[in-house]
Amino acid sequence: MGKSKALYAFSFLALYFSFCTITPTSSTSLQDDFINCLHENTNVDFPLLETLFSPERNVSDYKEVLESTAHNLRYVTESMPKPGFIFKPVHESHVQASVICSNQLGFHHRVRSGGHDYEGLSFVSLMETPFILIDLSKLRQINVDIEDNSAWVQSGATIGELYYRIAEKSKINGFPAGLCTTVGIGGHIIGGGDGTLLRKYGLAADNVLDAVIVNADGKLLNRAAMGEDLFWAIRGGGGGTFGVILAWKVKLVPVPETLTMFTVTKTLEQDPETKILSKWQRIADKLVEELFLRVMFRVAGDKTLTLEYKGQFLGEKGTLMEVMKKYFPELGLTQEDYIEVSWIESVLANAGFPTDSPLEVLLDPKLSPYVKVYFKGKSDFATEPIPPFGLKGMFKKLVEENTSSMFMIPYGGIMAKIPESETPFAHRKGTILKIHYATISTSEDGISLNKRTKWIREMYTYMTPYVSSNPRLAYVNYRDLDLGANTKDSKANFIKAQTWGAQYFKNNFNRLVKIKTKVDPENFFRHEQSIPSLPFSKRLSSW
Ligand SMILES: Cc1cc2nc3c(=O)[nH]c(=O)nc-3n(C[C@H](O)[C@H](O)[C@H](O)COP(=O)(O)OP(=O)(O)OC[C@H]3O[C@@H](n4cnc5c(N)ncnc54)[C@H](O)[C@@H]3O)c2cc1C
Repeated sequence: MGKSKALYAFSFLALYFSFCTITPTSSTSLQDDFINCLHENTNVDFPLLETLFSPERNVSDYKEVLESTAHNLRYVTESMPKPGFIFKPVHESHVQASVICSNQLGFHHRVRSGGHDYEGLSFVSLMETPFILIDLSKLRQINVDIEDNSAWVQSGATIGELYYRIAEKSKINGFPAGLCTTVGIGGHIIGGGDGTLLRKYGLAADNVLDAVIVNADGKLLNRAAMGEDLFWAIRGGGGGTFGVILAWKVKLVPVPETLTMFTVTKTLEQDPETKILSKWQRIADKLVEELFLRVMFRVAGDKTLTLEYKGQFLGEKGTLMEVMKKYFPELGLTQEDYIEVSWIESVLANAGFPTDSPLEVLLDPKLSPYVKVYFKGKSDFATEPIPPFGLKGMFKKLVEENTSSMFMIPYGGIMAKIPESETPFAHRKGTILKIHYATISTSEDGISLNKRTKWIREMYTYMTPYVSSNPRLAYVNYRDLDLGANTKDSKANFIKAQTWGAQYFKNNFNRLVKIKTKVDPENFFRHEQSIPSLPFSKRLSSW
């Protein structure tokens, strides 16, 4: 069958897959083409039962694998396009072969590590069907080298597994990455990766020493081979654009044996004039770098809110008590609020586990308190405190929707000292806090989806005067297709992307486009918000 005919048939069949119908057999020939091509491009065996999943082979296995790490359930509903088949490489050369074969056979593909993409971009293609899924979840090896202060970690591992493997070997080493321990290393680091050690050590991406990537030609490149431009781009430029990262070499950071945590909850009645929250906004980014003090806004059943102030300090209780007494007595902490923990216990607590849980819970994503949900998220960065009347309106808006969720985290500390152009992640000096909005539900129907989507967009509009502007900034790891999306083969993608690109990356977007154009001129690695390659007509003038 010719390539275009094959793709036509594949496309037709993908439509069937999207409704979870068992497809006629002709699509198996496309899988066979892929398998034959893989055989030609790797010497390492790949048992089909463990590596290839399609509705024709076994519809329930296919469904199970597809949904296994898909965190946002909005993207596995029946109406969502589904991959024609899923390939799970068990060896690095299989990833190389998958890239070569997708390219040769003209299959659009998606790459998934931990599956936590907010818009499901790692396993759903809205802009281009048919497509296949390359799922890296079997490539999850971690080697921690305490002597060298580093670890090599494959993309399919979760950040919880990395934390566990570090803690297994040391009580005084950690790694600065996100709070939710089921997030995948692959997609997390490539978009930045912030967590409770952010003010002391920066992002996960700020602590990368080396990486191994498969490029659009299927070549395996380490830092030296990929060059400093590409190595720059993958430390914050977002997933699915520059190649498939197989593994990262990360720098471990020192942590004390004893950390101190606290949670203080305030109702609106306890802070009617928003004095405490206003003070938090003024000081949280200026406190000692060892202290990370965030605020979670929770809608209580009776249409009111509670504000949870959650602190984590790299040091003992006595020192933190002094800091809080001096800088934030309004929070009213008592002796009993302070809890001393080890770093790995703080990891458990931040992920929602009791601190006395066996550490092995970090190895099994099914045990995570972060259950899969239907959600839509958005983000903002603020450079100035939101005034009290703005906060009051924000509270009013939050309680309108009982699935709403919101938090603010402070920046400052080392984040303000790292130059904006050091990595693609440009939210550095001047950023006082990051805001995360979401609507989260364990069930969904069309009506509630519309209502919730409307709510979060209104919330975002409401916040406009109080957050960054020109451009209004956003965090690429909280993908938000409301900001704009590429469409298939559109020459206008490059123009449109300048808007959302500046929101995610400020001036770094232009450098990302140049690097993308150089390393992947054909735009092989693409999705709804991948960095576009420059159209051919623009290339000469811009180089
Ligand atoms: C519940 C939850 C909690 C979160 N908490 C935090 C947090 O505390 N801090 C924070 O910074 N972020 C957080 N995030 C956001 C998270 O960092 C991003 O969604 C991240 O992209 C997820 O990585 P992943 O591998 O799990 O995702 P995936 O869905 O697998 O991938 C995300 C994107 O990266 C691409 N990609 C995946 N693997 C690779 C690879 N190996 N090479 C190249 N591209 C790849 C995908 O194609 C996709 O475009 C959270 C997300 C969720 C859902």
